[in-house]
Amino acid sequence: MTPPDLPTHLPHFIDGEPTDSASGATFEVLDPVSNQPYATAAAGGPDDVARAVAAARRAFTEGPWPSMPSRARARVLMAIADAVEAREDRLAELESFDTGLPITQARGQAKRAAENFRFFADLIVASGDDAYSVPGSQLNYVVRKPVGVAGLITPWNTPFMLESWKLAPALAAGCPVVLKPAEFTPLSASLWPGIFADAGLPRGVFNLVNGIGEDAGAALVEHPEVPLISFTGETTTGKTIMRTAAEHLKGLSMELGGKSPVLVFADADLDAALDSTLFGVFSLNGERCTAGSRILVERAVYDEFCERYAERAGQIVVGDPADPATEVGALVHPEHYARVLSYVEVGKTEGRLLAGGGRPAHLPSGNYLAPTVFADVKPGARIFQEEIFGPVVALTPFDSEAEAIALANDVRYGLAGYVWTNDLRRGHRVAAAIEAGMVWLNSHNVRDLRTPFGGVKNSGVGHEGGHRSIDFYTDEHIVHVALGEVHTPRFGASR
Ligand code: NAD
Repeated sequence: MTPPDLPTHLPHFIDGEPTDSASGATFEVLDPVSNQPYATAAAGGPDDVARAVAAARRAFTEGPWPSMPSRARARVLMAIADAVEAREDRLAELESFDTGLPITQARGQAKRAAENFRFFADLIVASGDDAYSVPGSQLNYVVRKPVGVAGLITPWNTPFMLESWKLAPALAAGCPVVLKPAEFTPLSASLWPGIFADAGLPRGVFNLVNGIGEDAGAALVEHPEVPLISFTGETTTGKTIMRTAAEHLKGLSMELGGKSPVLVFADADLDAALDSTLFGVFSLNGERCTAGSRILVERAVYDEFCERYAERAGQIVVGDPADPATEVGALVHPEHYARVLSYVEVGKTEGRLLAGGGRPAHLPSGNYLAPTVFADVKPGARIFQEEIFGPVVALTPFDSEAEAIALANDVRYGLAGYVWTNDLRRGHRVAAAIEAGMVWLNSHNVRDLRTPFGGVKNSGVGHEGGHRSIDFYTDEHIVHVALGEVHTPRFGASR
């Protein structure tokens, strides 16, 4: 269903104004149900990025944003949160239309985005600066300064929410920003200028450049006056960005891909584990960085688990993203759909197909895939090792705790892990042994915003979340003050 008043053109937003590319270049934006272009977007290049960075740089050097008291900045962040929530229905319909996410799952995104702004508003007001005293001789105090213009590069799964995740701490810290949204899904980012205008964010603090990653994204990474890049996306893109950024010694935050394991032990609450593991890989169309896409199950319950899992997966409602009954919608773009389908074909040679395996019969067009379950997948299989980023899951049996841990860690990624057991000691032991930035014990991905978020191995460099995000966007500037006599060796005073 096409939302009313859909924009037919998505410009950049630079220095408080919508604007097109200097070259006039545009690209077409498709919706994943019809796969027809519904809008054009300005295709940014180095000139447009340079204009955006110049505006952000002026907002940095001429203020007032970077030097405002944190309480004043927090007030604006709270107003941004209210303005986001006021657009909840519009955001949900735009996001669902552009990404193919089921409308009920798109609806939660505004609340989460708003919470990101409220959280960082609270955090900056409550934070104090460190001071270290050496009684009678020295006082050392830390002044936190925003680093400068932050370049924010984001992916297409839950685009608005992930943009908010970077915008909120960057703005809270006082950094003006240039946001480069994913080219598959630029629609919801068109809401930001109105949100920031309603909330009173000063001109030039927020800038948006649409465009293709290799052009607009790369130009942002190459720009010498952008000292920070916060990136979420694929591991291979992350490596390219790190290589370019090294030339300028930029600060980097890298949230990359994943192939996260779920370990289900025989003593687990299997009903809860089933609900959680189905949701963990099939929600958000499986286009979820923390998806539990490899389910390792103890042999004693493996056959029962596989049977029940496949039955439930086969009953998942796949359909029009705008329909509130839909549980899995349309994959974001025909290119991504083709890639996921190619993995399904590979999977048919690597595992035993228990559910799905192709387009549902009742959906002859659009990027639809029936939730696909493969059993008996060996650790060497590509569908065990590679991130598919769609509604596809691999089930593998294990015989011992040691084997389960070895299987869990036998991939290059290390974003998340999930453990299901009712044995408290084993739960903690296994959680500690999993090579991942984040582990959930007897739960799917439910996150407290204060906690660190990020991966290890090929899943990322650095952690976001809570004060870690503020650390990333600020420099700690230390001032050492002498309180008494300083005994200085008197060079040149001996004669
Ligand atoms: P992607 O790497 O293709 O693109 C991400 C962004 O980078 C886009 O805005 C793109 O235009 C830009 N880009 C592409 N090439 C670039 C270049 N050379 N220089 C600068 N920018 C460039 O990723 P995607 O396909 O949009 O997103 C899916 C990936 O994101 C998956 O691997 C997923 O696991 C990952 N992801 C990770 C997290 C996390 O927190 N770890 C969260 C969500 C998604």
